[in-house]
Amino acid sequence: MYPNILRHPGPTPIPKKVELAMAQNMISHRTEEFVELYQKTTQRLKPIFGTKQDILFLPSGGTAALEAAAVNTVSPGEEVVVITVGAFGDYFVSICENYGFHVHKLEKKWGEACTKEDLIEFLKPLSNIKAVFATYNETSTGILNPIDQLGEVVRTHTDALFIVDGVSAIGGAAPKMDEWNIDILVTGSQKAMMLPPGLALLSVSDKAWKVIEENNTPAYYLNLISYREWAAKGMTPNTPSISLIMGLSAVCDLIDEEGGFPKTVERHQLMKQMVREAMMALSIELLTGDEYASPTITAIKKPEGIDLSTFLGHLKKKYHLDFAGGLGPLQGKIFRFGHMGYCFPSDILEAVSLIEAGLQDFSYHFDPGAGVLAAQKVFLGSLRKE
Ligand SMILES: *Cc1c(COP(=O)(O)O)cnc(C)c1O
Repeated sequence: MYPNILRHPGPTPIPKKVELAMAQNMISHRTEEFVELYQKTTQRLKPIFGTKQDILFLPSGGTAALEAAAVNTVSPGEEVVVITVGAFGDYFVSICENYGFHVHKLEKKWGEACTKEDLIEFLKPLSNIKAVFATYNETSTGILNPIDQLGEVVRTHTDALFIVDGVSAIGGAAPKMDEWNIDILVTGSQKAMMLPPGLALLSVSDKAWKVIEENNTPAYYLNLISYREWAAKGMTPNTPSISLIMGLSAVCDLIDEEGGFPKTVERHQLMKQMVREAMMALSIELLTGDEYASPTITAIKKPEGIDLSTFLGHLKKKYHLDFAGGLGPLQGKIFRFGHMGYCFPSDILEAVSLIEAGLQDFSYHFDPGAGVLAAQKVFLGSLRKE
């Protein structure tokens, strides 16, 4: 009876308007109606990616689009740099290794960002790099890498393509694909895009298209040239996730309703700040510093003296509040508070209040109400600025 309060970093809650849009009668993907839906929606997504390029729709999770970005641009034996600051950066490493690329792994400690200086230093002994892969928002640690600066380094120090995993950032952060020298930018539907899983979005620069044309990829289903050919007609090579694209059109409506995409991004910044201040007021530590803190997810350290998995189980069972735990080396050490997509300051106040209730159940020593008050202060401050 009680709704599950889903504060995961994906899948995330779906707005009613999007659900209703997805419940429309099915249409064929080889009709005028679909072409119109496709063309309008890809246009409306451009500001969200910060690009003039078209957005391609893959009927898949984000991982398939990452794989498409890799296999279409690089051939076995060619050298690539993969920047990894956590679990999702490691995905890119695995994809590149599986395809037999010669991988140079720039690895940072989980909880840290890759800085411009790190990349410059790493590139020094290297030449012939075909592509540099990076994660925009590392979902396992809540780090937003400085992709603008990394893109600048790739442009000035190499001829390589810059390929960016934007899953869990796009929709909540504001990438500028063209300005930041990103050649391929990828996202999935179920993180900050307010949709269920099953639709990946991908955009490709002119520079990357040239490389793709010359690179004889063995890919069939993930062949981007074929996506581009069909996109010119407002269609996809195979059956697309039609319902999800109907939903995506409603997502664009909701963003317009909010006052445009910059407002959506501002809301994410505000929620980030509310969560961070609340945890500090409860003397609960954050994994990351302010500088590279993600606008869509916050990694929160285990409250002192509490067994984290028992605590998270308790929050779920008693208060229907559902958080994700830590991955890999951070398992049992952090939990992850997702504040992306269809999430509002009121949701943060609710979640913080329920965390406090849980902390009282566990006899954690704190001032009851301190976290809510701190979050509220940030929220009210933002209203006064308007
Ligand atoms: C979730 C996520 C992925 C994987 O996406 P799937 O849709 O699960 O395939 C990749 N990268 C990042 C940064 C993610 O958050």
